[in-house]
Amino acid sequence: MTEVQFSSDLSVQYVQHMGSDAMICRAAKVSAQALEAQDAEESARLIKFLADNRHGTPFEHTAMTFMVTEPIFVTREFHRHRIGWSYNEESGRWRKMEARFYLPPVDRPMTQEVIRESSYKAYDEYEFLLKKGIAKEVARQLLPLNLYTSFFATCNARSLMHFLSLRMHKTALWEIRQIANAAYDIFEQYFPLTAHAFVEAGKVAP
Ligand SMILES: Cc1cc2nc3c(=O)[nH]c(=O)nc-3n(C[C@H](O)[C@H](O)[C@H](O)COP(=O)(O)OP(=O)(O)OC[C@H]3O[C@@H](n4cnc5c(N)ncnc54)[C@H](O)[C@@H]3O)c2cc1C
Repeated sequence: MTEVQFSSDLSVQYVQHMGSDAMICRAAKVSAQALEAQDAEESARLIKFLADNRHGTPFEHTAMTFMVTEPIFVTREFHRHRIGWSYNEESGRWRKMEARFYLPPVDRPMTQEVIRESSYKAYDEYEFLLKKGIAKEVARQLLPLNLYTSFFATCNARSLMHFLSLRMHKTALWEIRQIANAAYDIFEQYFPLTAHAFVEAGKVAP
């Protein structure tokens, strides 16, 4: 019998990025044909102006790709973000789904026990159907929403800020907030002036 794993991990990993705060400034200044390099202080001022005035298009000349690993119920919320986002997710048609389930990291023994039991049962039944020769794409419908999935998500700084404005908010689901906070940390590393301007503007996306 396959060993079933439980985890509370919610992970966002950096894959690649394109562009920089300087590139956003260049895109903003192309209208005035004033493309000469500027110092960090001027860049910070310009990016703050763009963020405060919701002048959003210069932020679109960038890209970031994340590898996200989280349960399906969080992914359903993530993939509602359509504009400026591209996704590629692991397949339940071409490969057997891994026996890895999410358990909320809270001290609620009864909830945890029920989730564990139902996850074991669902995976058992999934494997039973596979052994009977049922196609993976059919058998997978028995698996619950706390099964882990993983996907590549590519966005630009503007679409990321829109996602962050909704998903870092205190009213968002706790799990997607952890994912959004982790994505913000990566964003801040590669686009520090933009990330800080976004926070200073009250986390309102430009
Ligand atoms: C706290 C919370 C609770 C939620 N609860 C529910 C729920 O109960 N049920 C549910 O179904 N969803 C729910 N959602 C999802 C929500 O309705 C959005 O689908 C999700 O947040 C993605 O936002 P978005 O459409 O702005 O993003 P994107 O799809 O990335 O769109 C970005 C922006 O593009 C513009 N845009 C995109 N598509 C169109 C269009 N067709 N017409 C005009 N303008 C467009 C809008 O300005 C939009 O804000 C919830 C979201 C949050 C944050």
